[in-house]
Amino acid sequence: MKAKDPICSFCGRRKSESLMLISGLDGHICDQCADQAQKIVEKEMSMGGTASEEATATVGTGNKKLPKPAEIKTFLDQYVIGQDQAKKTLSVAVYNHYKRLNNKKSHADSDVEIEKSNILMIGETGTGKTLLAKTLAKILDVPFCIADATVLTEAGYVGEDVESIISRLLQVSNYKPEQAERGIIYLDEMDKIARKGDNASITRDVSGEGVQQGLLKILEGTIANVAPEGGRKHPDQKYIKVDTSNILFICGGAFDGIEKIISRRVQKQAVGFKSAHNKEIQDKKLLSLVAPSDLRSFGLIPELIGRLPILTALEPLDKETLRSILTEPKNALLKQYIHLFALDKITLQFDESAIEYIAEIAFENKLGARGLRGICESILQDYMYEGPSSKSKSTVTITREIAEEKWTRADSQKYA
Ligand code: ADP
Repeated sequence: MKAKDPICSFCGRRKSESLMLISGLDGHICDQCADQAQKIVEKEMSMGGTASEEATATVGTGNKKLPKPAEIKTFLDQYVIGQDQAKKTLSVAVYNHYKRLNNKKSHADSDVEIEKSNILMIGETGTGKTLLAKTLAKILDVPFCIADATVLTEAGYVGEDVESIISRLLQVSNYKPEQAERGIIYLDEMDKIARKGDNASITRDVSGEGVQQGLLKILEGTIANVAPEGGRKHPDQKYIKVDTSNILFICGGAFDGIEKIISRRVQKQAVGFKSAHNKEIQDKKLLSLVAPSDLRSFGLIPELIGRLPILTALEPLDKETLRSILTEPKNALLKQYIHLFALDKITLQFDESAIEYIAEIAFENKLGARGLRGICESILQDYMYEGPSSKSKSTVTITREIAEEKWTRADSQKYA
């Protein structure tokens, strides 16, 4: 029956049910589907420069509609506290990136080619750089991976070569290059590959510069040959080719000491306006004034800076922000503990003053948001140890006194 009455591979209609069934290599198409396909093609072609809903409906690979910048920011707000400027910059950059990709075909005959805009985020460690990049990938539903620039070495040296980053993205894309090619890579510790010293011509830090040169290639777009299944490269092996020109790179780094460079530049530019600028320096807003020339003075090569045109700074976290991080994000730390305890039928509660105390400890000891978990672990450890053995339902309320006592004990033990 199969051979006699083939079916349309698109709608499943039988040949006998349609006017015409055209055969292809591996399938068939009926007259109605062909007609519909023709209409879709015509519509796409006539769209010209305007981005239609259909054209923006393919963010990753799952035909997901591209959210608008404001929608992206609202989503980020659910997970990341503060950092409004960075969130806005990222939302616009990411929206433009995928808009560019989704409309590439309709722009094929246009003279204007929108260039890729990779992003560089600067901010102290633990201020949410990785979290922002991760959350962006989540909303867009695109393959995402985190790589560390410090493990990279120039080709030929011991360590990972630059293409290993692409290999990781390919891995999370189930080895489908077409998926990886629309992904996002978060490249951490970018500051660690800076050339040491301010004077480029005398102190050339060869290894740092070599890695930067290597990165340049994949940032701007190259065909990377990646060993399948994450294996090491072998001359006889067949490589998977991944075009990196559409992969969005979000880079991050603490860039310790860059404030001094910014301050020097700002003060130089502001003869006569020193006091106002000094105030800004005191306000610790200096980082937000970061400019490409500061990155150059820090030791990034100009070509690399040019490939990271979107520059944004993250603010250091103050006590109030740390407090919000504990309770407000969708998967806030305290919500996680409450859930964990609930699984053992224990109701866990935190007094406001206890929450404040945890934020204070993190702030005063410069532990940042990353330190919050450690502090909570120390405070809750005894309860997590004893709680599950208790047979009856119970309630644990963490007051400031309890938090203080548990933390002081844990802290003193650490340094005993
Ligand atoms: P970075 O990449 O800047 O070093 P991360 O993004 O890895 O920092 O942050 C470390 C941890 O601190 C994250 O797991 C996150 O839970 C928390 N965190 C940091 N900054 C924020 C923030 N602004 N909002 C919510 N959580 C944050």
